[in-house]
Amino acid sequence: MGYDVNQIRRDFPILERQVGDKSLVYLDNAATSQKPRAVLDAIERYYTHSNANIHRGVHRLSVEATQAYEGARQKLASFVGADSAEEVVFVRGTTEGINLVAQAYVRPRVGPGDEILISHLEHHSNIVPWQMVARQTGARLRVARINERGEIDLEHFRELLSESTRFVALAHVSNALGTINPVADMIQWAHEVGAPVLLDGAQAAPHLELDVSRLDCDFYTVSGHKMYGPTGIGILYGKRARLEEMDPWEGGGEMIRSVTFEETTYNEVPHKFEAGTPNIAGAIGLGAAADYLRSLDWAAVTAHEDELVEVATQRLLELPGVRIIGTAAQKTGVVAFTLNGVHPHDVGTIVDQEGVAVRTGHHCAQPVIDHFGLSATTRASFGLYNTLAEIDRLIAALRQVRKIFEL
Ligand code: PLP
Repeated sequence: MGYDVNQIRRDFPILERQVGDKSLVYLDNAATSQKPRAVLDAIERYYTHSNANIHRGVHRLSVEATQAYEGARQKLASFVGADSAEEVVFVRGTTEGINLVAQAYVRPRVGPGDEILISHLEHHSNIVPWQMVARQTGARLRVARINERGEIDLEHFRELLSESTRFVALAHVSNALGTINPVADMIQWAHEVGAPVLLDGAQAAPHLELDVSRLDCDFYTVSGHKMYGPTGIGILYGKRARLEEMDPWEGGGEMIRSVTFEETTYNEVPHKFEAGTPNIAGAIGLGAAADYLRSLDWAAVTAHEDELVEVATQRLLELPGVRIIGTAAQKTGVVAFTLNGVHPHDVGTIVDQEGVAVRTGHHCAQPVIDHFGLSATTRASFGLYNTLAEIDRLIAALRQVRKIFEL
């Protein structure tokens, strides 16, 4: 059966809107994705029907809210392939997930002489938390190089792995280039020197079928808003043993078992990492997003998105002056480019007038953009509702840019 993208589009009400007198072409999915009606309805249903604080409440609404929140945890556990819901911690998003691991797991376990290994391909949120831990502890941050296609140099990665490597943190998929890293091998190599691995799954969750148990990563973190769920919610998956040995980071309500001034005992995982009233509606909305994605034929989604990336790349290369930034053999979701003679911000502004939303800048991955000798790119990023006709609209808008700049 073919992939019925028009059917899918009907699930996303925002796609019907106009931008000025043009219909919206939304190609900024790597920044944030649009939300299906199933997610919008789940949030509205919670607030109009069951809104209450969760855990410990005995009244009907609190029981319903708790069931919906914990039900969402179970849905996310299935979505990422965790062994149990206890391995899923609700966080604000990928940034918070990485910072939680950096401060609560890695910081107490490293010191001078120890090394934390990342790659040159990372988003700022998988660089800065490790720089902070390095500064706090005296540990050293090591960075695996990337090649001219925007792939991690695996020989260099392996060279940098040693007895001193205490932790490895890697993007599963690059947000600036779309590169899919061969993380299964990289995790295995890291484990051979005894280093636990965190994967930043922000860009993988909307495009790849996840299976953290098969990957054998120690931690995996995603942002709800990039996988068709709400903003302000995401998950940190951690192997149960890792979460058990990790101290809480924030203290407060919900994360304790008992409190006296003499001694406080902590709640069990994952609750010991969820201090205070959580984003209940966000978690429920994210659960609905996970259900929505799991209801789709994933092979068909992947084939459709791969076709979008391939066709966009070909069509862009037909335009004089276009350079594609990031030409990895394994890519998903993203086509970044420059247009000779035009600053990316001008490209973005002009194509917006044609109703086409793309992102321009360094995409919170400045070292990646520096690597290509640039300060910015234009990035078209695709989701499961984008169409080949929308690529035509992008190309037509870029022809308009060339005309305006008399290229
Ligand atoms: N990691 C990657 C690869 C990303 O693309 C992003 C967001 O762009 C993040 C981390 C940070 O995600 P968030 O801002 O949702 O915490």
